Amino acid sequence: ATTLPTMVEEEKQRFDADDAAVLVMELRKSFNLGKTTSYEWRMSQIQNIANMIEEKEKDIMEAIYMDLSKPQHETFVSEISMTRNSCKLALKELKSWMKPDKAKTPLTTYPSSAEIVSEPLGVVLVISTWNYPFLLSLDPVIGAIAAGNAVVLKPSEIAPATSLLLAKLLGEYVDKSSIRVVEGAVAETSALLEQKWDKILYTGSPRVGRIVMAAAAKHLTPVTLELGGKCPVVVDSNINLQVTARRIIAGKWTCTNGQACIGVDYIITTKDFASKLIDTLRNELEEFFGKSPMESKDLSRIVNLFHLRRLASLLDEDGVSDKIVYGGQMDESQLKIAPTILLDAPEDSMIMNEEIFGPLLPIVTVERIENSFTVIKSKPKPLAAYLFTDDEQLKKDFVQNISAGAIVFNDTILHTTVSSLPFGGVGESGMGSYHAKFSFDTFSHKKAVLYRSFEGDSATRYPPYTPEKLRLL
Ligand code: NAD
Repeated sequence: ATTLPTMVEEEKQRFDADDAAVLVMELRKSFNLGKTTSYEWRMSQIQNIANMIEEKEKDIMEAIYMDLSKPQHETFVSEISMTRNSCKLALKELKSWMKPDKAKTPLTTYPSSAEIVSEPLGVVLVISTWNYPFLLSLDPVIGAIAAGNAVVLKPSEIAPATSLLLAKLLGEYVDKSSIRVVEGAVAETSALLEQKWDKILYTGSPRVGRIVMAAAAKHLTPVTLELGGKCPVVVDSNINLQVTARRIIAGKWTCTNGQACIGVDYIITTKDFASKLIDTLRNELEEFFGKSPMESKDLSRIVNLFHLRRLASLLDEDGVSDKIVYGGQMDESQLKIAPTILLDAPEDSMIMNEEIFGPLLPIVTVERIENSFTVIKSKPKPLAAYLFTDDEQLKKDFVQNISAGAIVFNDTILHTTVSSLPFGGVGESGMGSYHAKFSFDTFSHKKAVLYRSFEGDSATRYPPYTPEKLRLL
């Protein structure tokens, strides 16, 4: 008969700092043996991940559905397809990414040549989040492997079904001597963070980003921090209103129902134009999600009760709920919140100052569209800033004046699909970037290599430093 484990045994089963130290030691051994550095190994592991996605698509879709009730269409486009594309691109481009870059040399080193060699960093840690639990876990891992590193992935405990599946599938499909998954929450992540890594890529909140960076500093470990913030959308009046409304909806409610780092956080438009915009958003929302959006199968649920209550508290603040002009319904038992629009919520309210990360959308009105710059600049730098306009000068001014991880004109969120663009934040929204070749670079050291011959040995370089030699310089 099986007996229940005692408290002591349960404690022992927990992944702690000793386990983390053993894990890093094993992976470092593998890395030091050169297992992960060959082109063939990198290709085979990325191919294994591509095969895993192909063969286990149904299981992946189910796990993500269990975690977020994400519509299957959304999961397919933003998790399955995007992760698969990352694999495909790495498989196609890896050879060229690995090639050293030629560098120019000055007259002072003549004759010589130089190159920049991309060298794997070593044993790296990827800590991931829950809103795109598959893509945001695997995309950095693909980059780490492409760059020739051994890697540990810590998926988010807030998406437990996907975390469990990732641990199981990666255990089956990739080389366990160099690629591992550690599941867990704060305790397990803290145990991992005590170790010396050669790089940490963290995706999550700025609050925990600070914890990660402080832990990394102890070992002088470099970090890439993929954080969040309040992404604004500025809406001018000289636009195609229907397309604008649809694209705002796509950047808010069809990306995990607003639980997205580059999702629309708030809109800024002019006082005169706000009612037109709200009417069009209302019409389009009804077309997409029906008259009873709480029953729509095309909206993700809120990830858990903690986050639902956090969102509810944003509306509960004094003077906020009476600003609702659309939606506002909530159902704790089903973890659902309807698409909700607010007009001119108090400037000092939480909803106007904290990252919303959910289906609530405040609209701020200004007298002139140019005043939107002041509103955006009054807040920490966002991960993305969007502007809908036909005015070329306004576009130029926006690029010139607004600091953000990315800027997109006349659309939302689509920049993530452009593999030639880096993805990352600035200031409070993060540091460093990844995606495609930028992932490879993030997980590589750019080693400077100078080739000299025995020719060109100038005497001016050596003592004694006579006035004649000085004149020759
Ligand atoms: P979070 O920071 O709470 O959790 C993310 C990860 O950190 C998880 O793996 C978790 O286990 C770990 N963690 C949590 N608390 C910890 C602690 N005290 N010590 C060590 N590790 C800890 O973030 P979240 O709530 O999962 O995600 C929401 C945030 O992530 C938002 O700010 C959002 O904008 C941001 N985000 C950014 C991106 C991006 O690509 N830039 C993508 C998705 C989400």
